[in-house]
Amino acid sequence: MRKRVRDNLLGALKKAGVFEHVRDSRWRQRRLLILCYHSLALDEENLWRPAQFLAPSRLRERFEMLKQGGYHVIPLAEGLDRLRSNDLPPRSVALTFDDGTYDFYKITYQILKEYEFPATVYQTTHYSSRPMPIFYLICSYMLWKRRATVLHGFSSVGMKENVALDTTEDRENAVGQMVAFADQEQLSTEQKNEVAAELAHLLDLDYQELLHSRILQLMNAHEIAELATAGIRFELHTHRHRTPRDRTLFEREIRENRDLLQGMTNTCPTHFCYPSGDYDLMFLPWLAELGVVSATTCDPGLASVSSQPLLLPRFIDTTGRTPLEFDSWLAGVSDLLSAGVSAVGLSKRSRL
Ligand SMILES: [Zn+2]
Repeated sequence: MRKRVRDNLLGALKKAGVFEHVRDSRWRQRRLLILCYHSLALDEENLWRPAQFLAPSRLRERFEMLKQGGYHVIPLAEGLDRLRSNDLPPRSVALTFDDGTYDFYKITYQILKEYEFPATVYQTTHYSSRPMPIFYLICSYMLWKRRATVLHGFSSVGMKENVALDTTEDRENAVGQMVAFADQEQLSTEQKNEVAAELAHLLDLDYQELLHSRILQLMNAHEIAELATAGIRFELHTHRHRTPRDRTLFEREIRENRDLLQGMTNTCPTHFCYPSGDYDLMFLPWLAELGVVSATTCDPGLASVSSQPLLLPRFIDTTGRTPLEFDSWLAGVSDLLSAGVSAVGLSKRSRL
């Protein structure tokens, strides 16, 4: 219901010329829209997790809107420098991609090249030296693939009892049991991959084929090096995709991530993105001491000169976002409306 009200409101504002007015306003020119994407689907991942995966055709539609709308897509670092010096081009946008999964190498990079858009990848690195999919994700995906069946309890994959796989809740519960089993047994990443292979066998899926497709795998060191040479920027996203509250562990995550990226790209990454948007104010001085100059969140908004550089907002584009909604974020209208909603005291959850 709220979505329909919002779409009606945005439609009316667009028809009245408000989008064009805001898009070309001085207010918008002083702001940088940082767009956040995760992965493109290599198979059916966009049907499994539409908030995390886009069909490649959807990304192409978005890029076409950027091109047709006359948006200036600029590198993130340049955008942040020019934001500080009040020198942004009109309608400025920066593209960021979280995690650095293989689909970026195979598909996204080709589309970026076609449009000549620069991009930043926030690359997590633990799995980048391992030719295997991320454990909990591949387990979840395989259970979804067999969502009309029942998984029988097998101790080899940590399942105590039979589980029907037809609801998201049941499947996530099953994945939770497998992750808990792997933690309890202190399984290495390679051993977890064996559990995933066993699960594929139980579900009658071809695990070799899944491995070969590189689905839910990260880019490897060679692919990262190749794209870095071609102009893609690789920045920090922690080594194991986590933000521990313990300072020593937090710093280790950044340093391991930075050292590996530096080795692959011959550049020193200084921009950071909080994995899963999970941040805490205690991280700010830690990041500053580590030489990190910017950090992006998953909080919606346009970055302005008054934004805290280590808590920069982004707009997360997902399968569920309509072209109108996307357009309203490009123009800046949704950010203005959100500010208005906040000003009358509604919670951040109510943001349009
Ligand atoms: Zn991430």
